[in-house]
Amino acid sequence: MSRDPAAHKTPLRNMQKSSHTITLVGAGLTGPLLATSLAQRGFPVQIFERRSDMRLIRSSAGRSINLAVSTRGIHALREAGLWDQMSRIIIPMKGRMMHSLAGELTFQPYGKNDTEVINSISRADLNLALLNAAEAQGVTIRFNERCTGMDLNTGAARFRNEESGRETTVDSEIVIGSDGSASAIRLDMQKLGRLNFSQENLDYGYKELTIAAGPGGKHLLEPHALHIWPRGAYMLIALPNIDGTFACILFLPFAGPESFAALDTGEKVQRFFAARFADALPLMPQLQQNYAGNPTGSMVTVKCAPWHANGKVLLLGDAAHAIVPFFGQGMNCAFEDCTVFLELLDRHGPNWTKLFQEFELARKLNTDSIADMALENFVEMRDRVADPRFLFRKKAELALEAKYPRHFVPKYAMVTFHRVPYSVALSRGKIQDRLLAELCDPITRIEDLDWEKADHLIQRDLTALETL
Ligand SMILES: Cc1cc2nc3c(=O)[nH]c(=O)nc-3n(C[C@H](O)[C@H](O)[C@H](O)COP(=O)(O)OP(=O)(O)OC[C@H]3O[C@@H](n4cnc5c(N)ncnc54)[C@H](O)[C@@H]3O)c2cc1C
Repeated sequence: MSRDPAAHKTPLRNMQKSSHTITLVGAGLTGPLLATSLAQRGFPVQIFERRSDMRLIRSSAGRSINLAVSTRGIHALREAGLWDQMSRIIIPMKGRMMHSLAGELTFQPYGKNDTEVINSISRADLNLALLNAAEAQGVTIRFNERCTGMDLNTGAARFRNEESGRETTVDSEIVIGSDGSASAIRLDMQKLGRLNFSQENLDYGYKELTIAAGPGGKHLLEPHALHIWPRGAYMLIALPNIDGTFACILFLPFAGPESFAALDTGEKVQRFFAARFADALPLMPQLQQNYAGNPTGSMVTVKCAPWHANGKVLLLGDAAHAIVPFFGQGMNCAFEDCTVFLELLDRHGPNWTKLFQEFELARKLNTDSIADMALENFVEMRDRVADPRFLFRKKAELALEAKYPRHFVPKYAMVTFHRVPYSVALSRGKIQDRLLAELCDPITRIEDLDWEKADHLIQRDLTALETL
């Protein structure tokens, strides 16, 4: 059920209407969403974005990768009154479709029924809709303005226009750094010398490729699935688009015998795909052009603290906690940041120092937890999904959830279909994994599940499963 944005204009929120101008740096996914909700609450909001307006110059190569939006992201969009609109440009994906080397297909559902799905959405379409929504609420967005730093005491932010080179300084009540994993605002906070910071670069890169649409815009693969070609050390995935194409991502090591460095000619790429992704190759007539034309992206986990300084500046989204994409949660988590920030604002009003402190307290453990789960999930996606034992365990998880819905919820479901804190999903997931191993290791068929033993194990772990 979506909510009317006007519903936010409650007396409490009108009371907050003030001259507190809020500056957001970065009009990626999180900036415009938060800006929309802040403007709905009566705050004057402006966003500065280093890129040009994507509505005038359509998306550059490598930025049209699809994203999976799930419960946490949907909740935040719904709160801003935007989900109805977004739900028209998504394709629900009910599970993973694994493609073996021989081209055999295995389907593994994500959840226990057809409502537990993840949703494929084009990053460009989502970004565009969010920019429009923010402007419709009166948010000013200035494009081609690169933030070059800020005064963390006064809140004055510096920008350089990417076209004219003109430098400006912008004063505002507070600055929110929603400027992504390489945040310029975070860099300035580092210079203060009080920021604890770690960055872990993956030795894998990714490249965007495309599976063409069939005649009449028909999907050439099952549209309601996320397709995976798991190959142990690397993988190809494909997410459906509403125009019949699939947005694919090839994840490969940067260096080594099967790597981006090794695949340095069109012929080598063609041969590699013929040998490793034979059933995908005929669906990719533009493979060599896509491969040569699209950049190779890198992936990073960023952890830092504190996320704020002097009640003047706060980091949010990837700027505070970039994670690798293998749980499909980076944006969902960043959107959940917006939910938590707005709940605190509605509760306490614009007491920024307190709000920033409480925000970090509420989020940090959770964002660290999803960062760790996302790294773990890389091995699961590229390797373990091809293992029959893993698939059997997934079936057993769903059977246990059906019998003990309050006490056994698969970790994937807790992260993707619920809004329990990520830290709870991580710790409870570990207990459930142990329980699952005890139940499943001796058997190979669901029919052989020992339900008496399951009752006993659930009872044994009850306190942990209930109270975590
Ligand atoms: C391959 C891949 C697949 C992914 N798949 C998923 C998925 O399926 N589901 C999911 O939930 N997440 C996914 N993610 C993660 C998701 O893309 C990010 O978590 C999300 O984009 C974070 O939003 P953000 O607004 O914090 O940052 P961004 O979306 O990166 O936006 C930052 C914005 O700031 C601007 N900017 C940067 N520096 C400056 C500056 N100095 N001055 C002004 N502007 C600046 C940038 O141009 C950009 O517009 C994926 C990521 C990758 C790489």
